[in-house]
Formats: sequence, structure tokens, C-alpha cells
Amino acid sequence: MKTSRIPGFYNKTVTERRELLQDAQHLSANDSATFNEPLSTETADKMIENVIGTYPLPLGVGLNFLINGKEYVVPMAIEEPSVVASASYIAKIVREAGGFTTEATERVMIGQIQVVGAPDLDAAKASILAEKDSLIEDANAAYPSLVARGGGAEDLEVRILNEASDSAYGKMLVVHLYVNTCDAMGANIINTMVESLAPTVESLTNGKVYLRILSNYADRCLARARCVIPANLLQSGDFSGEEVRDGVVHAYEFAASDPYRAVTHNKGIMNGIDPIVIATGNDWRAVEAGAHAYAARTGQYSSMTTWSTDSKGNLVGELELPMSVGTVGGAIRVHPIAKVAQDILNVESAQELAQVIVAVGLAQNLGALKALVTDGIQKGHMALHSRSVAIAAGASGEMIDIVAGKLVELNEIRVGKAKELVEQIKK
Ligand code: NDP
Repeated sequence: MKTSRIPGFYNKTVTERRELLQDAQHLSANDSATFNEPLSTETADKMIENVIGTYPLPLGVGLNFLINGKEYVVPMAIEEPSVVASASYIAKIVREAGGFTTEATERVMIGQIQVVGAPDLDAAKASILAEKDSLIEDANAAYPSLVARGGGAEDLEVRILNEASDSAYGKMLVVHLYVNTCDAMGANIINTMVESLAPTVESLTNGKVYLRILSNYADRCLARARCVIPANLLQSGDFSGEEVRDGVVHAYEFAASDPYRAVTHNKGIMNGIDPIVIATGNDWRAVEAGAHAYAARTGQYSSMTTWSTDSKGNLVGELELPMSVGTVGGAIRVHPIAKVAQDILNVESAQELAQVIVAVGLAQNLGALKALVTDGIQKGHMALHSRSVAIAAGASGEMIDIVAGKLVELNEIRVGKAKELVEQIKK
């Protein structure tokens, strides 16, 4: 049976890890070979402007993820140490508790059309709504292939902003076009659709259309993850499971009520989310923007996750976020490693990808909170960071692990100390 539980993976060489993933049927031989030719300068030159090279990031895999009963090996592109280890560690605990459960809404993205200068905003709104069906039809005519896939524009609403404003610039009408983008993130699809509607909207409103673009506040494209963990699985060193559980809930309440803490709490969640979004060739700025806006939807910026206890004393964690990611389109079709990452993940749809991403975000949050309420974040983090410090101090080859080990032993994980050690070893 395909499993994401691969004991000892951490201690293997990179080549051995690739072989293990191949043995466990998470990586094909072809995909493995792609790591030798990740992204050519030639391809990069076609992707953006003024290219002078490429910028590689480490690609690791989060292990142990059991989500809705399915095993996932999660590709994660990130430069920060301890993230991949922490995600895998928490996923192991959660799988013992039965794994994550996730769900996702229909994938409806929003396109906005801004109309200014309409002489009568209410009349303009009524005119647009009277033509709603034909506007939706026109939008779909601009992208028939999406309709053929079962998606397309589904609905339309009109909002009036700043009706009472005295400013000539403030008053406006905003048309929202709701589009099922199937397995694409949908920015280009939606932009094409809303641009095609602009002339009709102008003539219906007697106003002028300025902006015609996707909204990254994808609150109709949500994914949710949940885990329920018996307290005994949370035991850590001298800390009982109940102590850890209560500490996590206290930490959550802090983030829920204080933006200064919430931002850092949420950054920890995005530590899990961004690496998969990046690895799979998706637009992480779009996901970041939508996630943080959603965290402020009540008017106060707050925790993206919730942590509580149930009547049996279990720790219950939940995460719901807009997740505007795709399994097709954008950079996904051109970046060779994005394709490999999608193959490793083995998701069948964008909806499934979105669910895996929020499950990893939830795991990452628990990893950080568990460390914070027990030993503190630095112990594990700095031990893993020590190798980067050793490299920064000039260590190479076998010397890296020797210097890193010594830094941990001395509990002095600083570049200055590492330089001293490198000099000593070289003498
Ligand atoms: P694309 O423009 O690549 O469109 C996706 C394409 O995938 C469609 O044209 C469709 O082509 C094809 N396709 C194949 N299979 C499917 C399927 N199952 N479901 C849906 N489409 C399918 O990408 P997006 O429209 O998704 O736009 C994403 C890009 O836009 C990202 O690179 C993002 O960075 C960028 N962007 C983001 C903005 C923002 O976030 N504000 C603004 C502007 C751009 P066909 O139907 O013809 O086969």
C-alpha cells in the first residue's frame, strides 16, 4: 500500500531519499531525473522579463500526511530550516489520531468591474441586474473552453461604494462576476471575462469603467482542515499531554485577541502553506493576500486557526482559508519542478490540492505552538539552523555537520562562534 510514512527518511542522503520515494511510488524515474535539470535559464527567460538567471530554493517533502484517509507526500520549497521537519512530526501525531479531515467549497473566484461617474447609481445598478443573464452569457462567450469543462461565470452582483461621499472620486459601482474556474487559479480567465464585459457595462450605466480584474479575496473558494488529537499523543519531554493541549489553546486565545500575536501565529501557518504553493507552481502572493484578508474578516485581524478542547479532552484544531490555487495554468505548465511536485502530491483536482494545503498549514501551526508552549521555539529551530550557520561561516563538506554539532553542544549557534570552530578545524 502507498504510504507517506517512511521511517528514517531524514537520515538518508538526497539520492537515497529519491530512491525511497520511487520505491514508495511517490516519484517516477522521469520526475527524479528532472531534478538534474530544474529550470533552464532559457525557460526562465520566457517566464518573466529581464531575466539574468534563476533562484533555486531547497525542495523537501513533508511526510506522514494522512488526509481523508489518503496518503500524501507533500513537496515543500522553502529556505527556512525546521519547517519541513515540524510539519512531518505533527503529521505523524495526527495520523495516529486518524489523520486530517478536510473539505472545500465549490471553486468560485470573483472578478470586479469598477464603474465611476454613473449619474444615478441606483438606476445603473438596476440596469445591470436587469441584464444579468445576458452579461453572464457574454462572459462565458469570452471563455467557452471553461464552460465546456463544466465551469464558467455563474452569477453576478452589484455593489455601490461610498454612496454618501462628497468626493467625485469616491462614489462608484462595483460589479462582481462569480466564476467557477475549475482546476485553474483563474486570474487570467477572469481578467479576460471582465474586460470583455466592460463596454456593455459602460453603456448600461452611462458611467466609465476603470478597473477590470480578479479579486484576490477569494472567499467563495474556501478549503477547511480539521484534526482531533487525544491529549496523550501530545506528551512532550517533561510536559504532559494535557499541559501541551492547554498551552496550545491558551496560545490560540492569545492570537485570537491580539493582532501583534496573530500576525506571527499566522506567519507560522503560512510557513506550511507557502512552500507547497510555491512548489506546485502557484501564485503564493495571491494565497497570502487572500489568507490575511480572511483573517481580518470580522473587522479585527485574528488567528487563522482555532484550537479548542472537546468533551473527551481532545485537542481540536481547525483552519479555513481562501485557497486560490490551481493544478493547471500559470507557471504550472512551464516550470519543470512544479510538474514534478504535482506528480508527487498526486492530487486529482485543484479542490483536492487546496485541502492538502490547509491541512499542512494546520499541522505547521500546531508544530509551532507545541514548541512554543514547551521548550520554546529556539531549541529545535536553532539545532536545525546550525548547519546553515556553519555554511555561512565557511564550512563545507563533512566539516558542516562537525561544526553544526559543536555549535549545538556549546549552545552557541552564532556565525562568529562557527567561524572560530572552522578556523580551529582548518589548523
Ligand atoms: P491561465 O491563463 O494559464 O489559464 C488556465 C488555463 O488552463 C485555461 O486557459 C485553460 O485553457 C487551461 N485548462 C486546462 N485544464 C483546465 C481545467 N481542468 N480547469 C481550468 N482550466 C484548464 O491561468 P489562470 O487563469 O489560472 O491564471 C493564473 C495566473 O495568473 C498565475 O500565473 C497568476 O500569477 C497570474 N495572475 C494573478 C493575478 C492576481 O492574483 N491578482 C493577476 C493577473 C495574473 P483552455 O481552456 O484554453 O484549455
